[in-house]
Amino acid sequence: MEGLPLRVLACGDVEGRLESLFGRVRAIQSKSGRFDMLLCVGDFFSSTSDAEWAEYRSGAKKAPIPTFVLGANNQETMHCFPHVTGCELAENITYLGRRGLFSGTSGLQIAYLSGTESQEEPTPAYSFSSKDVTELKSSLLSTPNFKGVDILLTSPWPRDVESFANSPGEIDTKKCGSTLISDLAASLKPRYHFAALEKAYYERLPYRNHTVLQETPQHVTRFIALAEVGNKSKKKYLYAFSIVPMSLMDPAELVKQPQDVTENPYRKLQKGAQKTKVLGCAEEETACQFFFDLNKHHGKKRPSDGKDRGSSQTKQAKKPPQPTGPCWFCLASPEVEKHLVVSIGTHCYLALAKGGLLPDHVLILPIGHYQSVVDLSSEVMEEVTKYKSALKEFFRSKGKRYVLFERNYKSQHLQLQVIPVPLDYTSEDIKECFITQAQEQQMELLEIPEHSDITQVVQPGTPYFYVELDTGEKLFHRIRGSFPLQFGRWVRRFLYPSISRSPPFSPTLFYSNEPQHPSFLHRWCSQARRTSMWSWTQARSSSTVSGAASHCSLAGGCVAFCTLPFPVLLPFPPLFFTPPFFSPFP
Ligand SMILES: [Zn+2]
Repeated sequence: MEGLPLRVLACGDVEGRLESLFGRVRAIQSKSGRFDMLLCVGDFFSSTSDAEWAEYRSGAKKAPIPTFVLGANNQETMHCFPHVTGCELAENITYLGRRGLFSGTSGLQIAYLSGTESQEEPTPAYSFSSKDVTELKSSLLSTPNFKGVDILLTSPWPRDVESFANSPGEIDTKKCGSTLISDLAASLKPRYHFAALEKAYYERLPYRNHTVLQETPQHVTRFIALAEVGNKSKKKYLYAFSIVPMSLMDPAELVKQPQDVTENPYRKLQKGAQKTKVLGCAEEETACQFFFDLNKHHGKKRPSDGKDRGSSQTKQAKKPPQPTGPCWFCLASPEVEKHLVVSIGTHCYLALAKGGLLPDHVLILPIGHYQSVVDLSSEVMEEVTKYKSALKEFFRSKGKRYVLFERNYKSQHLQLQVIPVPLDYTSEDIKECFITQAQEQQMELLEIPEHSDITQVVQPGTPYFYVELDTGEKLFHRIRGSFPLQFGRWVRRFLYPSISRSPPFSPTLFYSNEPQHPSFLHRWCSQARRTSMWSWTQARSSSTVSGAASHCSLAGGCVAFCTLPFPVLLPFPPLFFTPPFFSPFP
């Protein structure tokens, strides 16, 4: 069985019409082969007649397929479920229970919640409360590396499920359905979510479980509402599909985004929940690789500090220093110019320089608020090194090499300035250029031993200026008094005499309020081609983007993508060329 897709049937309200249902299942199985299970959501029993049921309960008749059902949605059918926590109701027919996770030997994980939402206290036995939802969420989200569940079964629809998607016809999802179910679906990230009770069939377009360009891609969710068995208007009540348990899937395959994928309908809800529920945030953390809001999240933990997992106190201790005021470079801060961001790792990011010395002048910056290289923790430093080697290879592929410098003087947030120079400039040329410029300013720029670390030369808190070549050679100046803030420009004038008069390069802002429009994409690509060092191409869908590539997707499935110039893989997948907007939706 392992690795093979399971063949599953899902069914809407049965309402006691077992003959009709099982007759249909038998017909399907004889036509297209055996299915592994039948999952029933909504009202399984009728509140008026249980004549058909009696024959199954007595064993006179038998379900043709392992059948799993949810519990009662009203007082009238309560008596059909003798054990609240789940039990076998008849041969081959199992009541799952009030809430929980059912996982078979196949590895398929099915989360379920019986009943309808209730605000009453005490909660009636056929209803669930916010406490049930919280407990179900926390029991599942606390499992290490929780990514989601394969299937979620609920009887009511989630409130607002149609947001960003196709209409469910006469059903008004703003009025019907349960907000607690929306919250549950948003947290559990099922690949399939089935519901019923509305006497309607609705298959929503698949939606994302990650925020585009802020989080690594995750699998999508398909919400399917089914009508009641044997309904007169022949609305669909039985849904057949095959599924490979996510635990057995290739991760890349799992997160493939279909062309018609939409925004998550519960996003607003999640944002609201994150503000009020600290618990929710901690739970989300393992699923996401990095976050802009570092006040709540600070990235993926490394295995080395796995022992600290789950303790909020140690998380506090591991936080990077916090800025005292607004900071233009803390990735979490609203001041950061996100359209200039090129790539985001776990601890560092790469951005185009605003008013850079050259078009391909980039900055390596820590995501958190560190003042200088000397203050960096070893894991942040490790990632800086990875970015350096990726840039080295990138510039080499363009017939260039780079020189990097840091000015730890009148700056609050570390910026490693990386500027390309022609490959035929020797290290001696470059060093001489810097040293000559320094001498003109009556500054002493000294070479420090190649293999010595800057931290061995200077204490944290000391102002300095520091140059590093892509060969590892380093020049150092301890700033005592003042330092010319225009030093980099003077160096450029020396390195690039021909462009000394050109105005500082300024990447264009690609901001737009109507990003859904294809012409926006076109503008984005051409602007990006002109102003960034990597070329962007339009594509119909992100599935055409393969390998090391980054893309921006817009509503309607249009994307622009850019093949990564880095031959070296930076930290892992979280490499995004951030477009000028974060969500194409208001
Ligand atoms: Zn900062």
